[in-house]
Amino acid sequence: MRGVDVLPAIRSSRYDLPLTYDPGDLDLSVGDVVRVPLGNRDTIGFVVSSPYDLKEPRELRRVRERAGDAKAFDETGLRLAEFVAERYLCTLGEALGAVVLGSAVPRVADVLQRAPDPPTASRSVPAALVALIWEEFEESFPLERLLRHPEARRIADRRTLLAHVRTLVRQNALHRVARVAEGRVRERRVRVLEPGDAPIRGRKAEALIAFVRANPGIGRADAILAGFSNAVITRALRGGAVRELLVRGERSPLPPGSAQRPAPTPEQREVLARIAEVLERGGAETMLLYGVTGSGKTFVYIESIQRVLGMGGRAIVLVPEISLTPQAAARFRAAFGSRVAVIHSALSERARFDAWDACARGEVDVVVGARSAVFAPLRDVRMIVVDESHDPSYKQDNVPRYHAVAVARERMRLAGGLLVLGSATPSLESYAAARAGQIPLLTLRHRATAQPLPEVRVVDLREEFQAGNRAIFSSALVQALGERMERGEKSILFVNRRGSAGSLLCRTCGAAIHCPRCSVALSVHRSERLLRCHYCDFQMPIPERCPACGEPSLADLGVGTERVDREVRRLFPEARVLRMDSDTTTRIGDHARILAAFEAQGDVLVGTQMVAKGLDFPTVTLAAVVAADLGLNIADFRAAERSFALIAQVCGRSGRARRGEAIVQTYAPEHPAIRFAAAHDYEGYASAELAERAEVAFPPARRLVYLGVIGRDRARTAHTAERYARILRDAELAEVLGPAPYPIARVNEEWRYRIAVKARRLKAVTEFVRAEILPLARADGKTRLAINVDP
Ligand code: ADP
Ligand code: ZN
Repeated sequence: MRGVDVLPAIRSSRYDLPLTYDPGDLDLSVGDVVRVPLGNRDTIGFVVSSPYDLKEPRELRRVRERAGDAKAFDETGLRLAEFVAERYLCTLGEALGAVVLGSAVPRVADVLQRAPDPPTASRSVPAALVALIWEEFEESFPLERLLRHPEARRIADRRTLLAHVRTLVRQNALHRVARVAEGRVRERRVRVLEPGDAPIRGRKAEALIAFVRANPGIGRADAILAGFSNAVITRALRGGAVRELLVRGERSPLPPGSAQRPAPTPEQREVLARIAEVLERGGAETMLLYGVTGSGKTFVYIESIQRVLGMGGRAIVLVPEISLTPQAAARFRAAFGSRVAVIHSALSERARFDAWDACARGEVDVVVGARSAVFAPLRDVRMIVVDESHDPSYKQDNVPRYHAVAVARERMRLAGGLLVLGSATPSLESYAAARAGQIPLLTLRHRATAQPLPEVRVVDLREEFQAGNRAIFSSALVQALGERMERGEKSILFVNRRGSAGSLLCRTCGAAIHCPRCSVALSVHRSERLLRCHYCDFQMPIPERCPACGEPSLADLGVGTERVDREVRRLFPEARVLRMDSDTTTRIGDHARILAAFEAQGDVLVGTQMVAKGLDFPTVTLAAVVAADLGLNIADFRAAERSFALIAQVCGRSGRARRGEAIVQTYAPEHPAIRFAAAHDYEGYASAELAERAEVAFPPARRLVYLGVIGRDRARTAHTAERYARILRDAELAEVLGPAPYPIARVNEEWRYRIAVKARRLKAVTEFVRAEILPLARADGKTRLAINVDP
């Protein structure tokens, strides 16, 4: 008798282990999606084993049928999910959630059905929302689509929207149905654009036609990535100026190797030789590539991948999501043509699935993508490159809380391949490992373009303030901007906060306006006339008077991108200023459009982290950090390390092809993160910071596990956290700190307490938590446990 293991794809801790079923005469293998009976109903499940012979015959329920013909994951994906579940203390189902592409498999979704007519009198629901639903949406639509709609988000935050939906359901204006949505993507098709016959007017539309003519067979997704909006494409399609063809299984046929390849610099040649040596030898290995900004790391990646392909292997390149610019994508496209799949957020779910499917069919040799691309179902992967490997976005901040570098290392361990960690500011973990001789260190100390790193000026804002300048720009920065404007060169201004100000402060009574649900001040968004919570999305109109004392003396405190944008325009009315942050990039393709506009005709680009990474514009000769202290004052043991990396990255945008400079404005010029960054001294900074971490026994000197206890009832949550901490201390496995309130103690009406466990041996701690704490947490209905391993 035969059995097969199936993991029910439902969110319930009761079913976090696979169940054994009778495969019947179905020919099943790992990753198949099936319908199985569970209790008195059917559910969807993933096959997680090959069919095997049972030792003893027993009563088994039978798999009903396959649900769709696409596989949800391959053997490697399953092995990596098992690793994630074990290392990060989550269930296998949660771990698979990161591996499986949502749209590829059937799932249960909440769908809303609209009554024919809008409700007449609905006092509690805004008329704008009713109009939106009855005018813009179809008769039935997924709830999520409404919650994400930009128009709806302007009307209210997510929670309020949900409340409005409930009201409409109660009024029978909307009906809610749970549907098993079929896997939406069945056949692999690419939407390809070609010129049509009808004429069209308009600058953007004409540019689109020219683009489509110049790139025969270009995909719609690529046109969006190149900066054309969906609206422009749709208009051109409707008017017949462009036609869209659904092509089976073809990728955009861009010519491979069309770009001129420069000769490597002596440093690059040395690094390439050492990588080649390891590749030829084979076997699992990790290498750290420390190369200053502009040293040509991408060139090293591409040349090394060529070698891997020549050996019959394949490769994955991970990049931080926001640095996957059209520029970066174009470099990989130029090198690998149709054999590369670039997976970025501007792709539709269908296009993403197409890319995934192309990997599984062996039609792709190189995958370039953000964090989750580490799970790509590609065979024979012999090298994984992690670019900007220190970047915080490699750690997923919701369940499963995995680190892509750790998963990549495991993948290369299983496959016997090479992991290359590239960075201008390596994480202290990887740098310490290199210094200790555990992994080889490869170094690029010079820029590839023969330009030196920009000179960095640190401006002390305290002196500036004493000299009577209360503006957000120092006189040095104003002067430097003015010179750039005169010379027609470009500038990048980095501010680590969106909105116009950090908070609204009453100059009379000193009160700041806080979020009613969280323990943080509300951020000011002047252009929308709103106060917003950056944690729970709460929003309210900006009040005229202080709610506490009634005086009209509210003033903005701290700066954000919006305010900096306004200030540049005020000082230089003729400047062409672009702003890039998560408020200006809500739609697919916004990111690319802003960068294209900056490249073509912009003078100043203002933005958050999005402008700090990966941009390679030759005429940028000024990069400035407007408020370097913003990131330093966060209560996180990595705050200084992150600030150092960001400042170094921002400065690195300047002077790539012409001599450039950088300016760092700060109230703490003596802080090591700022001092060393200004001197381009990564090694000096890393040594100092490593010594300090060793002193206080924080990573990388120890492994860290945070156990967060979260609940609505403050006393009960604190008490539960105390209890877990006591159990951990009694076990004497590691040093246990806390519980203490999180730096932000309350979010979305829940109180949060945190225990920090500092371990010499991680495994002993995770095993203990799994055995002793998890069962307690599962049994407690009043609190949740949020585990973060290697935060
Ligand atoms: P990094 O990723 O290290 O910041 P990039 O790979 O973006 O650096 O390279 C910076 C610039 O140097 C790019 O414009 C690239 O085209 C150029 N470059 C890289 N290698 C060479 C080389 N060997 N010869 C000439 N230019 C190069
Ligand atoms: Zn809030």
